[in-house]
Amino acid sequence: MFESTITGSLPKPAWLAETNRLWPAWKLSGAELDAAKRDATLLWLKMQEDAGLDVVTDGEQYRQHFVHGFLEYVEGIDFEHKVKMGIRNNRYEAMVPTVVGPLRMKGRVHQSEARLMRAHTKKKIKITMPGAMTIVDTIADRYYGDKVKMALAFADLLNQEARALQADGVDVIQFDEPAFNVYMDEVKTWGIEALHRAIEGLTCTTVVHICYGYGIKANIDWKQSLGSEWRQYEEIFPALAKSRIKQISLECANAKVPMQLMQLLEGKDVLVGVIDVASDQVESAEQVAATIGAALKYVPKNRLFPCTNCGMAPMDRQIAEAKLSALAQGAALARERYK
Ligand code: ZN
Repeated sequence: MFESTITGSLPKPAWLAETNRLWPAWKLSGAELDAAKRDATLLWLKMQEDAGLDVVTDGEQYRQHFVHGFLEYVEGIDFEHKVKMGIRNNRYEAMVPTVVGPLRMKGRVHQSEARLMRAHTKKKIKITMPGAMTIVDTIADRYYGDKVKMALAFADLLNQEARALQADGVDVIQFDEPAFNVYMDEVKTWGIEALHRAIEGLTCTTVVHICYGYGIKANIDWKQSLGSEWRQYEEIFPALAKSRIKQISLECANAKVPMQLMQLLEGKDVLVGVIDVASDQVESAEQVAATIGAALKYVPKNRLFPCTNCGMAPMDRQIAEAKLSALAQGAALARERYK
């Protein structure tokens, strides 16, 4: 009961990359960089195990950014001439690469970290990838001329990597879809279809993570514009409840999301965000258990999985470490309290 896990990303150590940044520059290159990524992954694996988490991740130590880390392995994309584009419905501007030809995988994306984790832990392991809707919202297009067609092409590539990850021994594959909270109508018309393509043929646990973003200024400003209640989930949860995805990961701690919206996910496992990643305040185990208790009014205990609201990539390393412990200890406290 209450198996705990983090959304995915963790800060990179200062010897690997710039700290407190969403797009950190690497501090090393070539074989030295490869070795440092490996060491950082092992370090976070140990930290998650010692904290007492049940499903562990690679902390996304091998990738610079959660979307572009995947795109670097895709053929048909021009990374040389990045263009400025408004993303997440113009919430912020980013320099993005452009699709210029048919999309194909250049090779495996997450094989190194998946096999490394499998060789060094007996815990369940999770790999995260960007979802197709979030990818097409973070890249320019000069080839497909149709967003849905391009998204489905990306979904096929995600599926190719996901099947290979499953064969590597990965227990949980998660697709990050912050864009689902922005383009709610499109989620219903093609977003879930793209998600289904990405999980086609998988027998491992599948997750979609939908949040209000990292704790960066553009997101905090956006959240302030959303009013006293955030009801984006209300529009997409009924469709997700009917989908073939097994688990839904959502933001809850310190969010203005009405908790009763979780009821709309009947039949699904719900990864409830009980750790706020937009605040450096470390939650107490008591606070985490209280959030779990509040969510239990809407999610049965065998389907509730304590998680973080989002990734912790841009956070201070010590704070992220403390939050890992708070998550695991809060889950342990809830296990005693609500058994
Ligand atoms: Zn997130």
